[in-house]
This record gives sequence, structure tokens and C-alpha cells, in this order.
Amino acid sequence: MQPDLILTDAMLVTHGEAPIPRAFVAMGGGKILDCGPMERLPPSDAPKLSLPGRLLTPGLINIHTHAVLSLMRGIAVDMGFAPAYTPGVPHGHEINAEEALALARLGAMEALLMGSTVMVDSYVHGEVTLPAIADLGLRIWACGRLHDVDFSRVHLADWRHVPEIGAGRLAEVEALIAQFHGSHGGRAHVIVAPHAPDTCSAALLRRAADLARDAKLLTTTHLSQSQLENAEIQRRDGCSPTQLLERCGLLDDRLIAAHCIHMSPDDVARFGAAGATVAHVPKGNATGGAIANTPALRAAGARIALGTDNLTQDMAEQMRWALATARIRVGSVGEGWQPEDAFAMATVNGAAALGKSGRLGQLAPGFAADVVAWDFRRAHLTPLLDPLGTLVHDANGRDVEHVWIAGRQVVEAGRPTQADEAAVRAAAQSAAEGLWARARAMMAA
Ligand SMILES: [Zn+2]
Repeated sequence: MQPDLILTDAMLVTHGEAPIPRAFVAMGGGKILDCGPMERLPPSDAPKLSLPGRLLTPGLINIHTHAVLSLMRGIAVDMGFAPAYTPGVPHGHEINAEEALALARLGAMEALLMGSTVMVDSYVHGEVTLPAIADLGLRIWACGRLHDVDFSRVHLADWRHVPEIGAGRLAEVEALIAQFHGSHGGRAHVIVAPHAPDTCSAALLRRAADLARDAKLLTTTHLSQSQLENAEIQRRDGCSPTQLLERCGLLDDRLIAAHCIHMSPDDVARFGAAGATVAHVPKGNATGGAIANTPALRAAGARIALGTDNLTQDMAEQMRWALATARIRVGSVGEGWQPEDAFAMATVNGAAALGKSGRLGQLAPGFAADVVAWDFRRAHLTPLLDPLGTLVHDANGRDVEHVWIAGRQVVEAGRPTQADEAAVRAAAQSAAEGLWARARAMMAA
């Protein structure tokens, strides 16, 4: 096949290979046709883009985020725990579809500009946020928020499970599957996302497991995010949240579980033996004062992938937080927690969690043409001696210059090609101001 475009003269880093100082990547039909050292580039009259001083990597895979929760920026992280459990912040059930759309477009545009090509996203109004994120050009695995708790009471530490709420949310997931699973040229997917063990009854968790199995879908949830959740499940079900997922048929290699902070050694062993994936959120969790025991989880057999949750969509930052927090656990710098391990978490591990090993997460022939060009012609990325170490320890999402997804350029010179950046920012600002004003008025009442 004749390439649509050949990127030339750039450095290249991909999982399991030595960096190539001067490389080419030939893309065609949405895939990588060939890549390697410039000396190997065959003669071709295909269009070329010369990128000296740039680093090419595979697109990054953000395995856990809530694009709408860009709403919380700069405030909620200092108020305690996750927004759904925190009084005084806007809550999901108070967000209308128009506001969710405006905020999701902002979160997704930000992710794209910082080099993510895949997002796993769940929150409210999936019927508008899922297609909006896909419309920006991203690959998306998304869902609404599946729960049967009355979310208007959870921030008061009051869990009331209402079967009609669960039935309504399940129907919404089924409608999403019918409308969007496989849409947008195969870039859009539905993932079944029960919110958390404490916000879903055991009965609803079982129904979610049945739905995922019957529809052959992946599942994602929050797991042992707080001592509060652990205590509530112990009171309600007489077990740990991990044991509850196991009983309900959700603990398997199709599960992507965010946080996994407050786990006993028995939980870690069960989770690892199931081959489930930790959606590790090192920056958010460390900022909140607690962190998953990733060395123990990985040793037990769990896969570790990275997510930004409701903080800045900067996956470069997450890679170094993942290294730093693991090293605090093990107490040293050594084998096993090096830049290549963090890079794997942000690429191939996420691809494996999504069942896309061999198709996403690497720059190699036959993989999707999801490519990020980082501009390394900058003071903080000089001198350039080790591209991968410099990427993980020193680069920021803001250093991303170009992004291609399935061979289509979706970021050009730091700007989105599929959205009006100023308009997206203005709509999100307006939605956030309105939601925070309503939340403050409610607190004052
Ligand atoms: Zn989350």
C-alpha cells in the first residue's frame, strides 16, 4: 500500500525497542505501514513531513478519566475526597446535558492536546459526552454512571439504594450500546461502568456483570477508593469491596478498577490472580493522601495502567508520579520501576486492558497510526541524551505538537483540528460558573 504520509527525521521511542535517533513512520489506511531508521526509508513520492528535534511516541492511553469533571479544577482536590462524596461541590445529578457536553468537550480536547489518543471515560449524560469525545477524533471507551444509590444523598454519607434508579441507568447503558458501540469508524466503544461497590447494590453489580458478559464488553469501576467505601461494604455485605466484585462475577481480566488504594493482602492476591487491571491514578491519589500499593499489586499478577481521573489530562505527569509513588513503596530506585515501566503503563498496558494488544500502544507495522510528535527543541528538554528518561521525567503534555489518530491529524502545531478551541473553552467556563454558583447557593440555603 502507498503511504498517505511519511513522518521523517524524528526520534522514535516505542515499547521494548531501543530509541531510534533519526527515524521515519509511514502511515496508510489508518495503520502504520512501516517505521525504522531513516537509512531504511525506501524511495517514495508519498507526502512527507520532516520533524527534526521531535520525539515520536505511540498515542497515550488514559485508562480512567471523567472529562466532565474538568469542572472541579483547582478546587475539589483540596476539599477532601472524590467529588461525589464531598459536600459543597456540584454533583453529577445536578449537571444537565448541555453542561455535560460543554465540559466533556473541554476535558477531551485537553486530553488530545496533551497526547492522549484513547480515553476511558464514565460520568453522567454518556449519550452526549460519548459521541462528543469521539467527534474530536479520539478513541473512546465510555459509559454513563451506572448506580442504584440515590446520588443526592451520598455526599451526606447516606447510601439509599433504589431499584428503579438502577433499572433506569441499566436501560441507559443498553441504549448507549445500541446507538454507539462500534460507531465513529470503530473508534467508539461502550464499557459497562458500575460506579463503585458502595454506590451499587450487589444485585445491580450482578446485573452489570451479566450485561457485560452477554454483550462481550469490558467493565470498569472505582474500587477501594476510601476507607469509607470499605466500611460501608463490610457493613452492607460483610466482605471487602474486592470480595464483593468477585462474588458478583466482575473480578476478571476484563475489569479495569480505578484506585485500588485500601486493599488488604488478601484483596491484592485475589485481584492479581484474576488478572484484572489497576487504573492507577498516582497524582490524584497522592494529592489526596493515599496511594495504591502498585509493587504488591503487580507482583500478584495485576496489570497497571494509568489514568488522570478528574485532574489535568497530562499523562506525562502521571508517568513520573507512578514512578515516584512506587519507589516510595519499595524505598529505593531499582529494577522494575524505571521510565520504560511507566511508559508501558501509559501505552501497552492500557492497550492490553482494552483487549487491543498488537493493535494499539506501539509504533510498529500493523498497529493503528496513533502517533504523537513531542517538540523536544526546548530548554527543559535539553540536553537530550536519553529520550525516554527525558520524556518521563521532564516532558509535559504541553510539549505535544502534533497528534494523529488512525492516520488523521487531530492536533496540528498544538491546536485541535476538529474543534474551535476558544469556543470550547468559553462554553466550558460558562457551564462551570453556572454549576458552581448553584452549588454555593445550595450550601448557603
Ligand atoms: Zn474516577
